[in-house]
Amino acid sequence: MRINDNFEKLPESYLFSEVARRLNEYKAAHPEADVVRMDIGDVTLPIAGCVVSAMHRAVEDMADATTFHGYGPEQGYSFLRDAIAAADYQSRGIGIDADEIFISDGAKSDLGNLGDIYSSDSIVAVADPGYPVYVDSAVMSGRGGDRLPDGRWSRIVYLECNAENGFRPAVPDVHADIVILCSPSNPTGAVMTREDLREWVDYALREKSLIIFDSAYEAFVRNPSLPRSIYEIEGAEKVAIEIRSFSKTAGFTGLRCGYTVVPKALTGTDASGREVSLGKLWNRRQCTKFNGAGYVVQRGAEALYSSEGRESVRNNIDYYLENAGIIRRSLSQAGYAVFGGEDSPYVWIKGKNGESSWQLFGDMLEKYNISCTPGVGFGVSGDGYIRLTGFNSRENTLKAMKRICDGREK
Ligand code: PLP
Repeated sequence: MRINDNFEKLPESYLFSEVARRLNEYKAAHPEADVVRMDIGDVTLPIAGCVVSAMHRAVEDMADATTFHGYGPEQGYSFLRDAIAAADYQSRGIGIDADEIFISDGAKSDLGNLGDIYSSDSIVAVADPGYPVYVDSAVMSGRGGDRLPDGRWSRIVYLECNAENGFRPAVPDVHADIVILCSPSNPTGAVMTREDLREWVDYALREKSLIIFDSAYEAFVRNPSLPRSIYEIEGAEKVAIEIRSFSKTAGFTGLRCGYTVVPKALTGTDASGREVSLGKLWNRRQCTKFNGAGYVVQRGAEALYSSEGRESVRNNIDYYLENAGIIRRSLSQAGYAVFGGEDSPYVWIKGKNGESSWQLFGDMLEKYNISCTPGVGFGVSGDGYIRLTGFNSRENTLKAMKRICDGREK
């Protein structure tokens, strides 16, 4: 058989595997080193008690023929879709209905799978730097074109994010069919303003583009003047799909649950120019290729909408935001230019002397025994930066930052 040649175009390793490889190499050479993992995008706090209880009850349901749940609805159980529509949208004055919400097994799958419903020759625009899944999925599905010498792809539109534009992608002067926006951003921690999103929605209405709005970190937004959903912008329901996740909000990275909003007003055009509902296409795709997220996990997610669940989410996020604040303050004190880390768990740091990202990665590891993520792994424009995360424990965060503030080597 012939393979999908697009896979061969991709560089060998996924960013985080390369970080792990270099880290393991260092640890093997320095077994005594107490390396603090500030590179991780994974959370450290356990699942809330109310979620655990809800899942225990759901497991009991499975043990009894009268309450057993087999295949569930591909779109997700209505108990969870209703709770999301009411709490995450309607209570905030956004008119999203439960039947516009599709429960997923996490944001990553849907970010990759959405490519099934738009044309294979679509031009995709992404922020640079950005979450690598957007570009890699576009390449796998043949939408990348050729790999250029600088590591970019010939058919992808890069929305350059830098200190000058506050790491917030601006609308380009070229057409893109699909625009993938992430706010708060992984990796820069930048949060797009309402005015930014207004410009993007206007662009999409004008260009007849689809915006995929990845708001996996929306729960970290505490500044009330910043938007948490793209549907806060009038007209966005005609141009945007929103993707969310319980992973970072509630410690679901190992449980796997999230959701994707495809509004009924959202349409694309077919070859004859006829308007077609994207919700119908997505539903068709899910019914064919997805058999729904697990019942037990969805019961766990439902518990997040109880008063105890909401409090636990708030507390978790406070904890990670405080860690990010500690990182921000410490690195600033140590003389680094620091971005993000407010309304986001990610802190984005520029090298002091124009070092490359991998040089900075090596320095952090060797001088302070701190592992970070090199910014260049998120795109060419990320070079010269590293990303640290607030997801470690308070103890480890303080320990790592003390090493940097003291200028202590190891
Ligand atoms: N989107 C962004 C921006 C992320 O950073 C991540 C995970 O790190 C995801 C999506 C994937 O999240 P999930 O665990 O829901 O698949």
